Parts: sequence; C-alpha cells; structure tokens
Amino acid sequence: MSNSQPEGGRASSPDVDGDMSRAIAEAARLITGAGKLALACHVSPDGDALGSMLALHHLALANGKPSLASWPEPFVVAPHYQFLPGLDLVTKPADFPPDPEVMVTFDCGSVGRLGELGPIAERSRWVGRLVVLDHHASNECYGSVNCVDPAAAATAVVVRRLATELGWPLNREAAMCLYTGLVTDTGRFQYHNTTPAVFALAEELSTFDLPICDMSRQLFEEHRFAYLKLVAVCLERAELDVDLRFVATWVTDEDFQRFDVSIEETEGLIDLVRRAAEAEVSCVLKESPEGIRVSLRAVEETDVGAIATRFGGGGHRFAAGFTSAGTVAEVLAQIRGALATGG
Ligand code: AMP
Ligand code: MN
Ligand code: MN
Repeated sequence: MSNSQPEGGRASSPDVDGDMSRAIAEAARLITGAGKLALACHVSPDGDALGSMLALHHLALANGKPSLASWPEPFVVAPHYQFLPGLDLVTKPADFPPDPEVMVTFDCGSVGRLGELGPIAERSRWVGRLVVLDHHASNECYGSVNCVDPAAAATAVVVRRLATELGWPLNREAAMCLYTGLVTDTGRFQYHNTTPAVFALAEELSTFDLPICDMSRQLFEEHRFAYLKLVAVCLERAELDVDLRFVATWVTDEDFQRFDVSIEETEGLIDLVRRAAEAEVSCVLKESPEGIRVSLRAVEETDVGAIATRFGGGGHRFAAGFTSAGTVAEVLAQIRGALATGG
C-alpha cells in the first residue's frame, strides 16, 4: 500500500495497483477455500463499515458460502442505518467464533478498533487466515492479507473489487449496502475523494433500482424532533476561535439524557458544525462511557488524521477521531494546543 494519498483523488502508482491486485487475488483464494466466513467491522460502525461488511455477507450467502457478520459492543446500529438489508442476519459479538476458519475485517485500521473481537483477529492472523479490507492510509496492516487501498474512497470500493475477483455477481441487497458505504464516505459525492471511479461505481450500483431518494433521506436528512432540540443546544454553545480558525461544540451525558438521544444518533452533528465559514478545523466532543469521543474535520490545510493519531486515534486527512480520558474542557484544551503548535 501507499501512504501518499490518504483520501484518494489521484490515480495510484502502478506498484500500488500491483500490490492491491495481488492482495485481492490472495484474499479471494482464502475466501474461496473457506467453509465459512466470519466478518467483522469497526466499533461504532458507520455507513462504510456496515455497508461494506453487509455487502460481502449478502454476496457470500447468495453464492452458497456460509457467513456471519458482527462488530464489537455496544452492539447497536444508529437509527439512520437501520434500513440496511441484512441487519436481521447479524451475530452478537459474544457469539463470534473464537477460531474462525477465515476472518475478514472491514474499514478497520487497527486491531484496537475491533474491541473484544481484536484477540480473535490476532489469532486468525497467526494462522494466516485474516483478510483486512480497508482504505485508511494509517492502516496497520494487521492481517495475513491486507487489501488496503488509500486511493479508494470507501472500503465499499475494495469490496466491489473483491467480489469481481471472487466471481460473485452483485445483487440488489449488496448494491444498497455498497452504495451506503460510498455515499457516506464521500459525503454525498462532495469530498476530495469523489473521483471518476466513485461515480462509475455509483452508476453500476444504481442499475439495481436502488431507492436513492429514500436512502438519502434515511442517511442524511431524517431525525427525531428530539435530536433537533439537542442540536439547537449544541449549536448555541459552539465556540469559534477566529485566530485558530477552529470551531467546536460538545454533547454531555446530561444532554443525551435530557433529550433522550443516543450517541449513535449524533453522528451527523459534526457535519453541521463544519459549515462555519470562519473555521478550517471543526470538532465535536461527546461524553461516553469509554471517555470523550472526539470527531475532527478539516477543510483543506490541516491533517486532522495526524492530530487524531497523536491522541491515540486515527482516520483520514480531512476526517478523523479519537477517544480520550479527561473532561470535555481538558480534551478541548489539548486539541487547541495541538492546533496552536501547527497541528
Ligand atoms: P467520526 O468523527 O467518528 O465520524 O470518525 C471520522 C473518521 O475518523 C472515521 O472514518 C475513522 O476513520 C476515524 N476514527 C474515528 N474515531 C477513531 C478512533 N477512536 N480510532 C481510530 N480512528 C478513528
Ligand atoms: Mn468507518
Ligand atoms: Mn471508510
């Protein structure tokens, strides 16, 4: 893999293409030889993690390959992904096989993002049976086969390529799932990673008569009224640092309780905050049982992936995150410090 192109947008070098082709062929060989697949995506799964995993799950089942799909606790799905076909076919992490024949991970840059499924991934790697499908430039290549393409806009793109190699034709369920990964990770075909290849895949997927309008409303538009009220409070308290070109807000435990809104439901809050014209970097901090969950976004200059990595997280150049101990005020001060010293 190459580290030169965190979010895609440029053709990758011939060497990278060659590496990817070999990795995809090797992954297809392992999967073809397996009696059963065990699929896992990253903790707190987003549209690409769920979509790319469920797509391969659908295709495996449709092609006579037993498969199970899971992700670490908390084993919940944000309301805006609940329309995804196949969520009735997933397996609790507690029921994940301890020694899967072949394990495949999706959209997950490190073993740590697999939570309690991490040790199973590590054992699978030891016996040469862990396939990693991802597009994070920061991927630690923790698999025995690493199909990691930083030039791909979404893991869904990598899964589409693997399906071709496997000779598994797409079906409508898989197309819906892949489209979800593609449209969410490109911010509705708006981010830097929106390449001709993205539109080509979107065109192919759209031939499956996808409910584009319904999916768009579910994914990006529709929310419970209570969420709108929570947003009002969070935007009201947002702080803009004109000198740092930094905008931030936060959601407390008390907010979640008062409005009866789940943390999963607030995934899109950062997309409202990042609209501030004065800000290059935007941030949302959320109190959670694991600590302060931080989302960072940059418009064009700052590598927030590098900042998040410094704080023990990761991500892409323009979209990244981490989870940290401390209070909202403390973590915010640390982020300001990192930005003040040049990121
Ligand atoms: P989010 O702000 O949660 O939407 O996350 C944006 C991106 O940052 C994700 O696509 C992940 O690639 C990455 N990310 C978020 N949180 C973490 C974390 N704790 N560790 C590693 N990467 C993360
Ligand atoms: Mn993801
Ligand atoms: Mn992704």
